[in-house]
Amino acid sequence: MFKDLEGKVVVVTGASSGLGRAIAKRFGEEKAKVVVNYYKNEGKSDELIKEIKEAGGEAIKVQGDVSKEEDVKRLVQTAIDEFGTLDVMVNNAGIQNEVPTEELSVEEWNKVISTNLTGIFTGSREAIKYMLEHDIKGSIINMSSVHQIIPWPHFAHYAASKGGIKMLSETLALEYAPHGIRVNCLAPGAINTPINKEKFSDPEAKEEVLKMIPMKKIGEPEEVAAAAVWLASKEASYVTGTTLYIDGGMTNYPSFQAGKG
Ligand code: NAD
Repeated sequence: MFKDLEGKVVVVTGASSGLGRAIAKRFGEEKAKVVVNYYKNEGKSDELIKEIKEAGGEAIKVQGDVSKEEDVKRLVQTAIDEFGTLDVMVNNAGIQNEVPTEELSVEEWNKVISTNLTGIFTGSREAIKYMLEHDIKGSIINMSSVHQIIPWPHFAHYAASKGGIKMLSETLALEYAPHGIRVNCLAPGAINTPINKEKFSDPEAKEEVLKMIPMKKIGEPEEVAAAAVWLASKEASYVTGTTLYIDGGMTNYPSFQAGKG
């Protein structure tokens, strides 16, 4: 538990499922005031709000599409109007789909880039603007992926968005470090969430993924949420411009594990 998170105002985008849900819930357990952004699934966000309140936190829901600038502005403004301030912005919402690059349309490219990368730009910008105006030494946590450094054929748009998130976050960290605003990335490997449901329900596909993970297990959303609360807490007060990989060793060249090479 991180005592200093009690009463902190935290926005989590894409919070009605998967990693966003686990992160929002964990902030609730830390007794934070959580703004649950959902895109389509209002029922799931109602369930989450109930769980956060039962855990001792406070919570409200805000519908919004992170690829739309006006929705992101409204999301941040609602947090400020309802809870009086903003301390932590978790830009988590993201999408992916598999398409060989020669068939990738500009429409599909733009959809992934506008959700995954532009959504993080506007979410970070709106949070930073408020934090600067009110001298808040806040924390911005951007959901990247191991694919910010591992190339991924058939997912060129996704990998490009995650590479962009890395450099955007590092640049913002440098730009706002003098104001005490910290900006970091979380980079999960393979985690058990709806985004991977189809892949992990096929035993052969799951086995292929496990071969790429030195720890030989799929991660759980709570293992990512634990890193998010630490990054937001004062225990991480000297950490900015970095990426915390939560990947069971996936980025450590697993093919070398048996001492070959
Ligand atoms: P998920 O599909 O459960 O969660 C994605 C969430 O984003 C959903 O709640 C969805 O409704 C929301 N969303 C989608 N488009 C949106 C939009 N335009 N506006 C607002 N919300 C929107 O999958 P997840 O695994 O929890 O993914 C969360 C993040 O973690 C994504 O950024 C993803 O790229 C990243 N990630 C996941 C893994 C993994 O293995 N699960 C690995 C690396 C990175």
